[in-house]
Amino acid sequence: MIGQLPRSIPEVVASHLCTGCGACAYVAGDALTMHDVRTVGRRPLPIAAVNGSLTGDALAVCPGRQLEHRPEALDGAPLRGEWGPVLALYECWSTDPDVRHRGSSGGVATALAAHAVTSGRATGALQVQADPDDPLRNVTVRNTTYESITAATGSRYAPASPCERLDLVEQAEGRTLFVGKPCDVAAVRNVAAIRPALAERLDVTVAIFCAGTPSTAATEDLVRSLGTDIEDVVSVDYRGEGWPGNFRVQSGSGEVRSMTYAEAWNGTLTKNRQWRCLICPDHTGEFADLSVGDPWYREIGPDEPGRSLVVVRTEAGRAALLAALSDGALDGDLIPLERLEQSQPSLAATRGAVWGRVLTMGLMGLRVPRYRNVPALRLWLRLPLRGKVTSIAGTYRRARLRGLNRPEVSAP
Ligand SMILES: Cc1cc2nc3c(=O)[nH]c(=O)nc-3n(C[C@H](O)[C@H](O)[C@H](O)COP(=O)(O)OP(=O)(O)OC[C@H]3O[C@@H](n4cnc5c(N)ncnc54)[C@H](O)[C@@H]3O)c2cc1C
Repeated sequence: MIGQLPRSIPEVVASHLCTGCGACAYVAGDALTMHDVRTVGRRPLPIAAVNGSLTGDALAVCPGRQLEHRPEALDGAPLRGEWGPVLALYECWSTDPDVRHRGSSGGVATALAAHAVTSGRATGALQVQADPDDPLRNVTVRNTTYESITAATGSRYAPASPCERLDLVEQAEGRTLFVGKPCDVAAVRNVAAIRPALAERLDVTVAIFCAGTPSTAATEDLVRSLGTDIEDVVSVDYRGEGWPGNFRVQSGSGEVRSMTYAEAWNGTLTKNRQWRCLICPDHTGEFADLSVGDPWYREIGPDEPGRSLVVVRTEAGRAALLAALSDGALDGDLIPLERLEQSQPSLAATRGAVWGRVLTMGLMGLRVPRYRNVPALRLWLRLPLRGKVTSIAGTYRRARLRGLNRPEVSAP
């Protein structure tokens, strides 16, 4: 691929390639702290400093800069094109009706995390949840009880950096299950490869499917569009309490205002995703042991309880899923692999477009990420002529509109 890789963490950030996962901040120790940049996402700052700790290991673990399937890490799973390594596909739901109701899909990510602890396999789960002191933002917590793990149920379509708190995993007694977006999980895998102390303490990784992280400003816009004052917000929920659930805002008076998931996601949230997500090939958590998404392969009835699609990617993931099923934490069954493609029908085209977008960035002299064993060119070749032209001409236009030739975030 044409184009140069960023050579330091500040360059990753300046080049609009940061996913906001926080892995560099964990690896670099005190040299970097994650901050929420309202209109962009969470970023490692100070970005102006360039020293050894911001290249080396911090750069090596960055999923924004590079994603690679290493054959030795595939655990026997065949690489299935745009779906990554897949051993099996299930459709499942939590057997706890409250978790299933509050979960984004079937509450499966939560049920897997809770089961890891209640079965004694792990002593905690590293999860993202709403910040109790700032309900429009998220925090990362290592939860250790059924009650605290299940309280973190639900997708937060807003910036989150779970990897910045990998110190909690490394320092804990026993193992920790990790839940995060595909980029977060790819970063964890990179860190575990160079930090044996972390690898020893890691239970399975669970990725939630992700089409991109919207900024905090996007949530603020949604809140205002519902007529609620930002200062008066007590809680924000993006989904749940039904499937796929509504975007809901509660104000100090207790009043709850809402809009449908489709209204929130298809409008403001989609438009305000960070740039790196638009050139991401991994929307289904290819580097996880298990990944969980919505089974959109069929129409969902109005009051239907939630279900989750579960992709088994490693033997450790399969063992964790089967144990949760046999212990009654989950219910569900094996389903045909075609259901994956039927659930995410536009994914092949999206990945094809990603190849054209990265090519355009390289031709414009911008820094680009490197993807290895993550096939995309043949998907670009399969796009209709219009799709090919859009992936290049459209990217050129958007890159200029977004100012990709200028640093994404200025130094504080
Ligand atoms: C930004 C974003 C984009 C998404 N895009 C898609 C998509 O394109 N297709 C699709 O099928 N589904 C998408 N989802 C939904 C997600 O895949 C569903 O949450 C998934 O089906 C799991 O549902 P569940 O009921 O099993 O999870 P739950 O049981 O509700 O648990 C969700 C878990 O995810 C963790 N979590 C929530 N938000 C974040 C976050 N921002 N970063 C890291 N961890 C988090 C929570 O801590 C919790 O452990 C997206 C979610 C997010 C946050």
